[in-house]
Amino acid sequence: MLFQAALVFLASTATPVGAFTGPNRAFTRRSGASSLKMGGSILSSQTGMSSLDPTIINKYMDLGMPKGKVLAEYVWVDAKGELRSKTRTLPVDKCASPDTLPKWNFDGSSTDQAPGDDSEVILRPQAIFRDPFRPVPEGDDANILVMCDTYTPAGEPLPSNTRYPAAQAFKGNEDLVTWFGMEQEFTLFNMDERTPLGWPEQGFPTRPQGPYYCSVGPENSFGRQITDSLYRACLYAGLEISGTNGEVMPGQQEYQVGPCVGIDAGDQLFMSRYILARVCEDFQVFCTLHPKPIVGGDWNGAGMHTNVSTKEMREDGGIEAIYKAIYKLGAKHKEHIAAYGEGNELRLTGEFETADMDTFCYGVANRGASIRIGRDTDDEGKGYFEDRRPSSNCDPYTVTGMIMKTITEDVDVPVIAPMSKSEA
Ligand code: ADP
Ligand code: MN
Ligand code: MN
Ligand code: MN
Repeated sequence: MLFQAALVFLASTATPVGAFTGPNRAFTRRSGASSLKMGGSILSSQTGMSSLDPTIINKYMDLGMPKGKVLAEYVWVDAKGELRSKTRTLPVDKCASPDTLPKWNFDGSSTDQAPGDDSEVILRPQAIFRDPFRPVPEGDDANILVMCDTYTPAGEPLPSNTRYPAAQAFKGNEDLVTWFGMEQEFTLFNMDERTPLGWPEQGFPTRPQGPYYCSVGPENSFGRQITDSLYRACLYAGLEISGTNGEVMPGQQEYQVGPCVGIDAGDQLFMSRYILARVCEDFQVFCTLHPKPIVGGDWNGAGMHTNVSTKEMREDGGIEAIYKAIYKLGAKHKEHIAAYGEGNELRLTGEFETADMDTFCYGVANRGASIRIGRDTDDEGKGYFEDRRPSSNCDPYTVTGMIMKTITEDVDVPVIAPMSKSEA
């Protein structure tokens, strides 16, 4: 999966020709030249094929596991915010909790996380999930996925360890019982890495956005098999995946994780991205979390809307606490935008259901706002708010930790007026 800016389609304004500039290549894309219905030019409008014959893989997977042994897949975030993992065999009694799991290490010089002459990076287990990619027969000990964070041998968190400061922000705030619900949008491409699922190989879909959001039907919905597989794998893993839907741009999808409490939100969201990447491996479909995979034309970007509530906000009269939190977030708008994901400026333009990144605004039921208060929350005077600014490739530790820090600061901030209903 590609988390950082790399896929950018630039449409020329002079001609209907789009040019793509990737890290090592360039090509042109003819606008509207071919239609989804023109058979031959479509690349895999369903999904790719499984990479290997399952009967061959199953020959080995059916061999079973020795009693008392578990495969533990240690997962961590690298210097670019991408996920890495490696496997080890452990005795089952070590796998009861993150505290009983052994620390491990990896070669940080291969991930830009340590110099070659002192390359060891220490992995500390932080959260355990069941491994959906290595299922075991009913009653056997489950193989596990282990979310880790990264330290120097001396015990200092690495600069790329964003979990550490986030965990600090939550420490001492446990009584607020802060919930996060994150809406992870993502975009699926054929393995050419330039043709979104359902798009013609050259050019754009002839039909504009409209029918694809929450869509059904083979002409509208692309990649459902991936989202459904991801959903089941996340449920099996023990993640709080709470829903999924097709998104506005064809080939774009969303799933939601949460509500999760505190630092658990970042652990779960990163593990869900790991599972997404592994599912895409199986389907041989390329997934990007870039916030604006198609620049030029009228195509929505991708975000990670973050829904937030503290215990106080969920109780009667909680709307007052919601307003206070929003004013504090408004006062720190610039800092939050700077930390909310790379390439987000291509997405937060004020168009396509976003607010301009230079303006902070909020409103009830307003999808053009930086922060939206849901209709139900407004009606009931309690509930949660939605920070719509984080990009799809944002760091969920950074986003949740920063929100926690900002809304708990003991500062006086000016009241901000909501966007008027007519703007909504
Ligand atoms: P949208 O209408 O913006 O598309 P979604 O239904 O996709 O919203 O996502 C909403 C997310 O908010 C879900 O993950 C849900 O679990 C979460 N959520 C619901 N209630 C709360 C709450 N009180 N605090 C935080 N998150 C919440
Ligand atoms: Mn949503
Ligand atoms: Mn969405
Ligand atoms: Mn949303």
